[in-house]
Amino acid sequence: MSDYDVTPRSRVRRLPKRAHYDRETVHAIIDEALICHVSFVEEGNPFVIPTIHARRDDELLLHGARASRLLKHAASGAPLAIAITLLDGLVIARSTFNSSMNYRSAVIFGHGRAIEDPAERDAALKAFSDQLVPGRWEDSRANTEQETAATAIVAVTIESATAKIRTGGVGDDAEEFGLPYWAGVLPIEQQVLTPIDDPNLPGGVQAPDYIRNYKRPRRAG
Ligand SMILES: Cc1cc2nc3c(=O)[nH]c(=O)nc-3n(C[C@H](O)[C@H](O)[C@H](O)COP(=O)(O)OP(=O)(O)OC[C@H]3O[C@@H](n4cnc5c(N)ncnc54)[C@H](O)[C@@H]3O)c2cc1C
Repeated sequence: MSDYDVTPRSRVRRLPKRAHYDRETVHAIIDEALICHVSFVEEGNPFVIPTIHARRDDELLLHGARASRLLKHAASGAPLAIAITLLDGLVIARSTFNSSMNYRSAVIFGHGRAIEDPAERDAALKAFSDQLVPGRWEDSRANTEQETAATAIVAVTIESATAKIRTGGVGDDAEEFGLPYWAGVLPIEQQVLTPIDDPNLPGGVQAPDYIRNYKRPRRAG
């Protein structure tokens, strides 16, 4: 897969060795994450809003109520900046100055457009379901036309994107190794716990395999 164009806005200047511009790495971070943060400027004021996303090739999909300010703004074609972060650990050095985090993050720039074509809207809604709970789309009550009509869906074309990844241990200098302070990495992983049945389930309905075995496998870095 090719690289995203490196623009003055997207070029990583701090620790550029951690930067990745290839689609494979950026897409892997987007696909593993459950949420993103969308930022935009409205009447001169900056906003940042957390929301669900899905990816379709070089587009990031957003959805929400038609009345949502975020969705209206995103659909207007105004410039958007979107951040996604996967946290992998606390890197605890001998000094707090040298301490850090292990992470995989992406920053995306683009413009949105409303999706109104019925077939494209259905495909987008399936993409959200697949991004969050693979297998659920086929195993759930179908959305009514009214429900679908009430949902605004926006496709943000990824015009430039950067991934920045930190992995590994502490970066202390050798002369610090003898200091009497613990140093190392505290790995952090998002954990899926045991599913909790809705109390109103009819008898015999059990959590399907795709719920009981739900995992978000690491996809990049
Ligand atoms: C994990 C997660 C997933 C979400 N997924 C979606 C989604 O897929 N689609 C969707 O439409 N919405 C989603 N939301 C809700 C979303 O964050 C916004 O609240 C919603 O989109 C309305 O945005 P708005 O700008 O139209 O709201 P407005 O009510 O116009 O926002 C006004 C102000 O309220 C405050 N505000 C708004 N949202 C939040 C928030 N989440 N937390 C704290 N303060 C807030 C901010 O100061 C904002 O400027 C999600 C939220 C979270 C945390």
